[in-house]
Amino acid sequence: MPSTRVRYAHSRPGVSQPLLRQTNLRLVVASIYAADEPVSRARVAQQTGLTRSTVSRLVDELITGGFVDELDPLAAGRGRPAVPLRPAAHTLVALGLEVNVEHLCARVVDLSGNMVAEEWLPMRDVARDPATVLGMLGDAGRRCLAEVQEQNMRPVSVVIGLPGLVDRASDSVLWAPNLDWSDVRISDLIGDLGGLTPVLGNEADLAAYTVASPMPGKPSELQDFLYVSSEVGIGAALVRDGRVLSGENGWGGELGHIMVNPNGPVCVCGSTGCLEQYAGRHALLRAAGLPTTAALDDLLATLDDRDKAALAAVQQAGTSLGRVLASTINLLDVGTVVLGGDLVAIADHLLPVIEHELRAHVLTARWRTPQVQTVWFDPAPVATGATIFGLRQVLAEPARWL
Ligand SMILES: [Zn+2]
Repeated sequence: MPSTRVRYAHSRPGVSQPLLRQTNLRLVVASIYAADEPVSRARVAQQTGLTRSTVSRLVDELITGGFVDELDPLAAGRGRPAVPLRPAAHTLVALGLEVNVEHLCARVVDLSGNMVAEEWLPMRDVARDPATVLGMLGDAGRRCLAEVQEQNMRPVSVVIGLPGLVDRASDSVLWAPNLDWSDVRISDLIGDLGGLTPVLGNEADLAAYTVASPMPGKPSELQDFLYVSSEVGIGAALVRDGRVLSGENGWGGELGHIMVNPNGPVCVCGSTGCLEQYAGRHALLRAAGLPTTAALDDLLATLDDRDKAALAAVQQAGTSLGRVLASTINLLDVGTVVLGGDLVAIADHLLPVIEHELRAHVLTARWRTPQVQTVWFDPAPVATGATIFGLRQVLAEPARWL
């Protein structure tokens, strides 16, 4: 667990009062949210280096503003009993919206990480045009927001995860090859969401936040890794020090379109032999002799029966993915790969093949073998990651919401 102990001078020359207040509020929030157990004001003062009276005043503001909950006082030997503090539940909430090739999902999550509303819409048998899809998703989001607002919760963030190249400046998805969307302005089609301005994000970038920070404001032990999102498409996100680094334009991480074989099949992106054509779900199912509408559990059943085509398909997918990951690791020096998405369902078969390729092709493998982990299967990690990303922004600027 990274230390949250950061000392700031209480009042430095040249530091304005609003800036100082913002900085101190952020420190107090970080101290309470990163703790494994509820903490007292005294403990927060000790961790932040702020005075007890400053901490008490700021904590009172945070309680009133819905950032922090106070629990019943603990009996103490001497002096005033300590009042434990923890992230607030059912107060400020974020809406996360996920556009997936096969489903849409709206989730609302509070500051304690509780999912307080959810709506799930399958995309099969639905027209794929942006107006229809985003209209449906917007309606699901509005129903979720109405549900939590009836319970007096306050939405403070809306983040939308999309499977493609996103341009926040123009509020657009530039290209989502697996949906056949290009230059789609999102806000116009999704409609008003509680008066909040939606922030757009790439699906793998957002899903990676569920690993870096499984609870809002609480860093996990893993802060440096490459997240691989494997579904029909394959994306990736490089996480350093708990933050996603997505490149100059935010377009990095397109692992699925790294070319594996120039003479390979034509990809949805127009190139040939992309990784997605070997290790994406549809490619994998096709190679195993199954329809692309089959579930990965069907593939798992054929693998358990030692079906030759299925075993060869997984061997090819794992080899391709392993080689691309080895090159990525050689380029970026990242020691841990986290495999998310639905390929996790066949990880027992896939991981040994990937690990073999990493041992063979990562230059530094003899000193430090790259670790490959899988995440607990969440059917909508992008929606969850969207809420975590949104709440991170809110927790970084608490004064804005008080
Ligand atoms: Zn491609």
